[in-house]
Amino acid sequence: MNRSPVCFSAPDLRAKSKRELTTDPNPPPWSCVSPGVNYMGRCGRKLCPSQKHGLTVFQVGFGDGSPFRPNEQQCWGEIRCHGCKSTFEPEFYLFNQCSAKINFCFERGTPDQLLLSTDAELEAQQFGKWGRRVVYSMLSIEVERPGYFPDVDSLDKVNILDSINPAFQFMKPIDAQKPPGHMNPQDIFYIQDSIASRFQCGRSVRDTMQRLMTGTLSPSQIPAIRVFKMKGKWHTEDNRRLWAFKEAGLTSVPVKETSESYVDSRKFTTMNGGVRVRMRG
Ligand SMILES: [Zn+2]
Repeated sequence: MNRSPVCFSAPDLRAKSKRELTTDPNPPPWSCVSPGVNYMGRCGRKLCPSQKHGLTVFQVGFGDGSPFRPNEQQCWGEIRCHGCKSTFEPEFYLFNQCSAKINFCFERGTPDQLLLSTDAELEAQQFGKWGRRVVYSMLSIEVERPGYFPDVDSLDKVNILDSINPAFQFMKPIDAQKPPGHMNPQDIFYIQDSIASRFQCGRSVRDTMQRLMTGTLSPSQIPAIRVFKMKGKWHTEDNRRLWAFKEAGLTSVPVKETSESYVDSRKFTTMNGGVRVRMRG
């Protein structure tokens, strides 16, 4: 059966350039470039604090091995401004301190692939050009740490300048820490005051803890918890998994770094600095 492809528009990957990043001790989240893929676009909300910069960012860190599809994230409304949490259409992608495999197909084109790897801290590879979107039938991006994929696509040959407001600076926090990889759960704090007794999939949090304690389940079989630094302490929004790790007495669990600004502000309900959490039901 012939199925017509579902086409969508997205930044043009053929327009490539390098971007310098500047450092700032405390960059505003909507202009802060982090390791991984950063989607840049203009937020449509008039009262958004990102408006005076003209650009906002949505960041995707290193993958868990599964490619993500920018179009689908956009359709599901996951690409959101860090100034006001409203959705926006990305104008281009910035890849920073990562490697990526991009599978794509333009409308009526043949499938193609781009591979890149960059470990430059204060430089990003930009794909796409302001105001130039093209129609794709497929676009999927896999992001890993620098060196995971070869850097086949050297950008030296291509340099397309675009008309970004010259006052806009892509920034990185000065003390940007590398994701720690593994941490002792006792060094991580909650953000909620209570947790449900089951995970979203229906599994019991307490059973998971007991299986971790007896060794019938390994922490590597559980998705890494996302950690971020807040007032000098590491916190996670994955409160149930953290509870299971702590109660099982584990000393090393996989973590991946995220930023406080990506966490739904309604989840910050702890009244004890994230030291303890109560299980509901
Ligand atoms: Zn906004």
